Amino acid sequence: MTELLSNYVCGQWQNGKGAGTTLHDPVLGTELIRVDASGLDLAAAFAFARHKGGSALRALTYAQRAAMLGAATKVLQANREAYYDISTSNSGTVRNDTSVDVDGGIYTLSTYAKMGEGLGDVHFMHDGDPARLAKDPLFQSQHLLTPTRGVALFINAFNFPSWGLWEKAAPSLLSGVPVIVKPATTTAWLTQRMVKDVVDAGIFPAGAISVICGGSAGLMDQLEPFDVVSFTGSADTAAIIRSHPAVTQKSVRVNIEADSVNSALLMPDEALGSEVIDLLVKEVTREMTVKSGQKCTAIRRVLVPESLYDNVAQALSARLAKITIGNPRNETVRMGAVVNRDQFKAVQDGLTYLKAQTTVLYEGSTSELVDADPAVACCIGPTLLGTRNASGSDVADRVHDTEVFGPVATLVPYRNNDLDHALQLIRRGQGSLVASVYGSDPIALSKAIPELTDSHGRVHIISPDVAAIQTGHGNVMPQSLHGGPGRAGGGEELGGLRALNFYHRRAAIQGSTAVLAQLR
Ligand code: NAP
Repeated sequence: MTELLSNYVCGQWQNGKGAGTTLHDPVLGTELIRVDASGLDLAAAFAFARHKGGSALRALTYAQRAAMLGAATKVLQANREAYYDISTSNSGTVRNDTSVDVDGGIYTLSTYAKMGEGLGDVHFMHDGDPARLAKDPLFQSQHLLTPTRGVALFINAFNFPSWGLWEKAAPSLLSGVPVIVKPATTTAWLTQRMVKDVVDAGIFPAGAISVICGGSAGLMDQLEPFDVVSFTGSADTAAIIRSHPAVTQKSVRVNIEADSVNSALLMPDEALGSEVIDLLVKEVTREMTVKSGQKCTAIRRVLVPESLYDNVAQALSARLAKITIGNPRNETVRMGAVVNRDQFKAVQDGLTYLKAQTTVLYEGSTSELVDADPAVACCIGPTLLGTRNASGSDVADRVHDTEVFGPVATLVPYRNNDLDHALQLIRRGQGSLVASVYGSDPIALSKAIPELTDSHGRVHIISPDVAAIQTGHGNVMPQSLHGGPGRAGGGEELGGLRALNFYHRRAAIQGSTAVLAQLR
């Protein structure tokens, strides 16, 4: 039998009491490790984190907690190769794709360590300036932000076992709020290992960070009014979280990051041969293939003027044809596997569903694999679909509301010189995490931006002047907001120090100016 991963709760490593779930290598099919959380005393685990971890963290200042994040960054950097090995075997990712998760997580943690230094040796934050409540300035209102005296429960998706941990834990720990992370079962190994390294290094006080690997049963039941829960995953599970009594009756604060049908938009005024078209083609190819398309931010819909539809289809197909698929251990392979058999089947089912309303412009799902057995490996090549018929209310509607969580995108033409038409089509996604816009005219681009910002958490503009330095449509940078309205879950994460708001309570203090001055 394979090794059973321990959970870290109540300041101790504890094994689940059951046989557990076995994690597999999605390329070789071999058994890797088991995870199990059954039989843990969850009430004790949450109480320990909430009281012991919370009070120890709150006794420190922001700058002291930022220094801990900095120390944790160094520990993770020192163990980076072990994380790459786990990722290759458990997620089936090539090195570049592993980097998005592992290095993306470490970078996010280090960014919060740096931002936190500037918050200084204080225990709460001011929110704005005092405001007079009467003609006489003696009596005023000042808003304060204080860390919530609860625990932060993170329920995470399988596709980012590292980044998904640190993008949530960094702002929470910096705020002084202890963390309990429940990674997705399929890829829990990497999250557990990173927590273990940080725990073994003795950086955070007891109870500051806990990890529970295995099923989610009972976790939400532990939440109390001052706790928070941050969920990343599918819209279906999000609905279960939102309707749990902890949220509906105890007002536990909840943040949801769900799925999204993100768009890339080529502006109407770009002529054939424009550098901007190349930039679009490169970015769409990258987004379709990085992590085998298993990114919540990946481009799913590509909107181009109808006169350029055929040209863009050809250019994208030519690029996609160069992608080698198979065993990530082979250096010639550009794209590895999807995470497991279930996801492999879900991608195939999703393709069948979309194909009923679209044309296949590039078929990669039957591509030959390098160094991998197609009967075993969960590897699937990229497929580009297209539809000239995505405008009506009853035709080709699936492209706007179906997220195939794999290397799949659909090309959608809009009427020539009709930006409004393109924007209407994008809005049919019902709210997304990110849209990227490709153009060379700064004025035209700036006019399009406010048309997208109420329905997207992030708008990424790619123009020739930033081609070499732009950070990528799908890469979530800690400085920028992550999350989106509507279908995307309505959540907000990151965005620099804005992320700390979720872990703080805001209160208005009404009092004498002399008292308020003492709070400075
Ligand atoms: P999922 O099936 O919804 O699972 C997400 C997490 O919820 C897992 O940890 C899962 O645990 C847990 N869970 C399942 N049932 C639960 C329940 N009844 N109560 C509490 N927790 C429960 O999603 P996934 O397949 O891992 O992730 C893929 C999806 O996530 C995609 O749709 C993708 O777009 C989305 N995603 C969004 C973002 C974003 O930031 N917006 C980022 C990444 C992924 P088990 O694994 O143990 O079942």
